Amino acid sequence: MKDRTYELDRAHVFHSWSAQASLTPMVVERAEGSYLWDNDGTKLLDFSSQLVFTNIGHQHPRVVKAIQDQAATLCTIAPQHANAARSEAAHLIAELAPGDLDRVFFTNGGADAVEHAVRMARLHTGRRKVLSRYRSYHGGTQTAINLTGDPRRWPNDVGADGVVHFFGPFLYRSEFHATTEAEECERALAHLEHTIQLEGPDTIAAIILETIPGTAGIMPPPPGYLEGVRALCDRYGIVWIADEVMAGFGRTGTWFALDLYDAVPDLITFAKGVTSGYVPMGGVIISPRIAATFDDRPYPGGLTYSGHPLAAAAAVATIETMKDEKMVEHAAMLGEEVFGPELRAMAERHACVGEVRGVGAFWALDLVADAATKEPLAPYGGSSPAMNEVIAACKKGGMLPFANFNRIHVVPALNITVDEAREGLAALDAALTVGDAHVHS
Ligand code: PLP
Repeated sequence: MKDRTYELDRAHVFHSWSAQASLTPMVVERAEGSYLWDNDGTKLLDFSSQLVFTNIGHQHPRVVKAIQDQAATLCTIAPQHANAARSEAAHLIAELAPGDLDRVFFTNGGADAVEHAVRMARLHTGRRKVLSRYRSYHGGTQTAINLTGDPRRWPNDVGADGVVHFFGPFLYRSEFHATTEAEECERALAHLEHTIQLEGPDTIAAIILETIPGTAGIMPPPPGYLEGVRALCDRYGIVWIADEVMAGFGRTGTWFALDLYDAVPDLITFAKGVTSGYVPMGGVIISPRIAATFDDRPYPGGLTYSGHPLAAAAAVATIETMKDEKMVEHAAMLGEEVFGPELRAMAERHACVGEVRGVGAFWALDLVADAATKEPLAPYGGSSPAMNEVIAACKKGGMLPFANFNRIHVVPALNITVDEAREGLAALDAALTVGDAHVHS
């Protein structure tokens, strides 16, 4: 239905990442738990968590109440003052963080967390270059988009800013002609070390990696890869920044994706799930070694809203609710007992599913037009009629998917019920039949 909201949006709202003239945004009237309703009253199961951030579902009453209470007490305060909500949020985040990382610098979202992590690494090392992988997303601000390894960087590449890209491990589409995870791991690490050596180790401040790349395709690294990255960083005096903006706060069935591995980074960036997106917040979790760089030397960076009380109160309530309702454990169970087995069974049934990857409530289906050549169902960086039909079929089946190029991601709220999860999977199953029709026989 075209209503006032829609008309005003089309007249005045300039949307992200889009050619404005062709947009037809869905008007969302309300949302609750794992469902949302458009202005025609159509109910959709949210299998996207929007942009993978509503980790506790929509409108969780406890978090809504915490934000309301904080608004009634103290809506805002400048970052130089101490504030109860901010102190508690930092304490809870530091407690959850792996290893000895225990200081938190709060930002407004993920991209500025990345900007600040890179700035800290550069000042700490006195070096300038930063290495990041192809098939990654680190945010839309200038350094973050330069670091990004997806097509959104291309039109923004107005100067590399010391950024060098390398290939990370991705066995299904291996750059290293590997046939096993162990081979992929070993060759990807050798490639990274060669890149470091050829770029000049003394010029490299940091390596930034999404612990599990998210938008780029949910590729959990093989066992040993992150441990190898840690060893290379130690050998060459490089700071390791783990970007947990999408993978963090329970998405993987652990608090951080890093908890699945045996390696501790120097800096962690987070955002999204920390407040379930109810109020924007991001940040950098800092190791004592890097924090010490700024003990006596001022850190040259800040934000008016760093640790904003409404966001901090949302973070405290989100984390406590996730703990009390055992959402992280639930996400792990969903991955092991529902999404893993059922998506793999779908891959058997549907010719268009090339590979299923994921963990917890964080899954990707790599859709192909040809299983033998792995030709993607939409080209890298683009869409296709086939993908558009699959997405439309998901929605027709009452499910809102997260789609990127040739992939459908299954990334619902961590507290989605098993019945709701199965409802979404049934819609996906039917949609994949539409995809099968596009497979070359
Ligand atoms: N890093 C990762 C891994 C992300 O997935 C995103 C957003 O999707 C960002 C950084 C940027 O976060 P924001 O959009 O909050 O700036």
